[in-house]
Amino acid sequence: MTPSFPFDNSYARLPERFFTRQSPARVTAPRLVAVNRPLAARLGITLPEDAAEIARIFAGNALPEGAEPLAQVYAGHQFGGWSPQLGDGRAVLLGEVVSPDGARFDIQLKGAGQTPYSRMGDGRAWLGPVLREYIVSEAMAAMGIPTTRALAAVTTGEIVQRDGFLPGAVFTRVAASHIRVGTFQYFAARKDIEALQALTGHAIARHYPEAKGPAGLLDAVIGAQARLIAQWMGVGFIHGVMNTDNMAISGETIDYGPCAFMDAYHPDTVFSSIDQFGRYAYANQPQIAVWNLAQLATALLPLIPDREEGIEVFTAAVNGFSDRFDAAWHKVLTAKLGLTETQDGDVSLALDLLDAMAENSADFTRTFRALSSADPTRARDEFIDPTALDPWLVRWRARVAQEDVTGADRIARMQATNPARIPRNHRIEQIIATAVEGDFAPFEGLMEALADPFAEDARLAAYEQAPADGEHVTRTFC
Ligand code: AMP
Ligand code: MG
Ligand code: MG
Repeated sequence: MTPSFPFDNSYARLPERFFTRQSPARVTAPRLVAVNRPLAARLGITLPEDAAEIARIFAGNALPEGAEPLAQVYAGHQFGGWSPQLGDGRAVLLGEVVSPDGARFDIQLKGAGQTPYSRMGDGRAWLGPVLREYIVSEAMAAMGIPTTRALAAVTTGEIVQRDGFLPGAVFTRVAASHIRVGTFQYFAARKDIEALQALTGHAIARHYPEAKGPAGLLDAVIGAQARLIAQWMGVGFIHGVMNTDNMAISGETIDYGPCAFMDAYHPDTVFSSIDQFGRYAYANQPQIAVWNLAQLATALLPLIPDREEGIEVFTAAVNGFSDRFDAAWHKVLTAKLGLTETQDGDVSLALDLLDAMAENSADFTRTFRALSSADPTRARDEFIDPTALDPWLVRWRARVAQEDVTGADRIARMQATNPARIPRNHRIEQIIATAVEGDFAPFEGLMEALADPFAEDARLAAYEQAPADGEHVTRTFC
């Protein structure tokens, strides 16, 4: 079959200063590692049968008809420091497809070669981060968390120099859009009001068609981010690089770099090797979101004719994040405990469990999954001191007994919200190490295990283990 992509490239129709037209670099020997056929079908993309042909497309060697490749420009605060010009330094947007159900998605090749925004970078990606993004973004989607998706991964046959010489790879990312807080900041910093207006209109039409003007957009983004971060925290996810250029206006999780899922619960957990001061630690994520959203508000402010009034409205909107996040987070927490309605004391009940878990290095995923089983006392096994959980179990049982729900229903609901399997770091590292040696079977095994993270499946028990002694990964890299 000839490949066909239902392209309709609206970003390419924005003013030329939004991007640079840029073809992906040709690579020497593309080889297909993975292609997400169900996603391709959902997007209305027809792929050739032949793996080699598919690899040429997703390596950037064969452009599908209708592609208008470009690199987007943006700016951003990185670890709080302002960078006036970033942009796609190693990514090329092939275009946007409009799926049969009418939704619009960016198709982007990451690792596609240098662009005008590469600065000192080589424009390339290596296999490790490509597999990590493939695994983690698909796992997030399977858990029902808004995220960019993985359409394909290929190796290039070329060598990339990082800490040593590593196999080059290209990742195909699907996103509702790649518009970031930093995209607005870029034009605001240049006092390019016309561009800000065009971007605002584009973002509203694309993501929040019911939103009215910049204030409506800001409000919608704040709501989406509040819900997103509550969902991250509900599965122990740490993004790792919440720079303003890595926060999507769509409310999708974007830019899987040194991200990680916690094993043992602790609010201060940090994995990223570049996050020296723990700015993006697990429990800091809501605060950082507020900080980023304040930057978005600042960028949108020039669009409000009455500046004083704008400041007032936007300040109230940004300050409103905290209540919206708390509402979403409390809903996540009480659902994790199997409660259908929230009563006074339920949030403290959940927070007391988290405190006990932190003191006892209890595995986040395994503890909640054990509580979701027919024998919740299994959660004790996750605690250094199992008796530390006993008083809490008594309280939780008493609370659960007040609900007008059968035990079986509660278990089913808890198992549908507390995943059995997450992409654990030690697994990902093992998979990357074997993939570099040319063995992709462990990668495929993990992808299968994570396809339905909520299903009970005794055959997948090995994927549910916490890292053993010597398997702990404490640092992740971009
Ligand atoms: P990130 O930390 O992934 O958000 O990247 C920050 C900026 O660095 C973005 O503008 C990227 O496009 C750029 N970048 C990251 N890696 C490379 C690379 N290998 N070559 C060129 N640009 C890069
Ligand atoms: Mg980025
Ligand atoms: Mg990145």
